[in-house]
Amino acid sequence: DRPPRFDRKFVHIGDGDGAPSSVIRVMQWNILAQALGEGLDNFVMCPLEALSWSRRKYLIMEEVLTYRPHIVCMQEVDHYYDTLQPVLAGLGYSSHFCPKPWSPCLGVEGNNGPDGCALFYDESRFELLDSVSIRLSAMRIPTNQVAIVTTLRCRITGKCVCVAVTHLKARSGWEWLRSTQGSDLLWHLQNVVQKQPSDPAADIPLLICGDFNAVPNEEVYRRFATSPFGLDSAYKKLSRDGLTEPEYTTWKIRPTGECCSTLDYIWYTKDTLRVDAVLDMPTEEEIGPNRLPSFSYPSDHLSLVCDFSFKEEEWEGN
Ligand code: NDP
Ligand code: CA
Repeated sequence: DRPPRFDRKFVHIGDGDGAPSSVIRVMQWNILAQALGEGLDNFVMCPLEALSWSRRKYLIMEEVLTYRPHIVCMQEVDHYYDTLQPVLAGLGYSSHFCPKPWSPCLGVEGNNGPDGCALFYDESRFELLDSVSIRLSAMRIPTNQVAIVTTLRCRITGKCVCVAVTHLKARSGWEWLRSTQGSDLLWHLQNVVQKQPSDPAADIPLLICGDFNAVPNEEVYRRFATSPFGLDSAYKKLSRDGLTEPEYTTWKIRPTGECCSTLDYIWYTKDTLRVDAVLDMPTEEEIGPNRLPSFSYPSDHLSLVCDFSFKEEEWEGN
């Protein structure tokens, strides 16, 4: 007795003939903190009933189970210890959680603790080498935004990948802070990824998932697009020219009006990783006139899901 879930299809990318067994499926998703959705967000076109945790938790789990990613990166997680960690552990995921130091959830009556970033990985596919939680700084001053940076080794190929998840400062007027936080994250990643400064080919491939709270023409986006890591944003592959971000990754209606924008990204090292497939976005009609969240979708942000594989080095073995 609820509207059907979005019927999203994977779009396979041109030269994607990676051995199917070694595909790494990655999900990026701001799931909408329970305390914020019911408390502060003011989604005026979404009935409160659709926002209850008793409904939303099943839709969130259903989204993960539908695509079964090997790596799941989430923001606004405020039900980690009581729900997401135990349920996903039962499905074979190990995980890490980093709460925001002064989560806005804490100001909501009846909150379930702070929200934060969470990173889940399929334990049968990846071995954990290292994981660090980072409080992002701006000009050496600690901010309220965090990241998790994890190094995993693929049990099939033996190759390593560094996965980061973050949620940058929201709202307009804070473009400079997002940019500085992004630079701080890139600085931290440098130390994790660069094994031997003399041999950039030995660098560990990067996957950076985040709600950057920044549209593609913002400074922080440019910083990632032009970083020395050679990063690209995976969802551009969905566009006809392969160079354009989707029209939206979040779509909601607040008392101040409708907000339809692209704020979420999956960055990857283009020299060492290849995008084999990208999950398409629901259409405006599928999302419906009241936008998100809704009875059929539990968050105001859509999940991003991509299949990656390691590029073979041409000179390998010879
Ligand atoms: P951010 O500005 O980064 O935003 C926090 C959350 O608010 C994000 O998850 C964001 O979602 C959401 N958000 C963005 N735009 C709006 C909007 N227009 N209306 C409602 N929600 C929105 O916050 P900080 O991490 O910097 O935290 C500071 C905020 O938290 C302050 O507002 C502070 O007053 C409050 N706070 C209150 C406490 C209390 O006890 N009263 C304790 C700690 C913090 P998205 O990323 O999806 O856009
Ligand atoms: Ca939010």
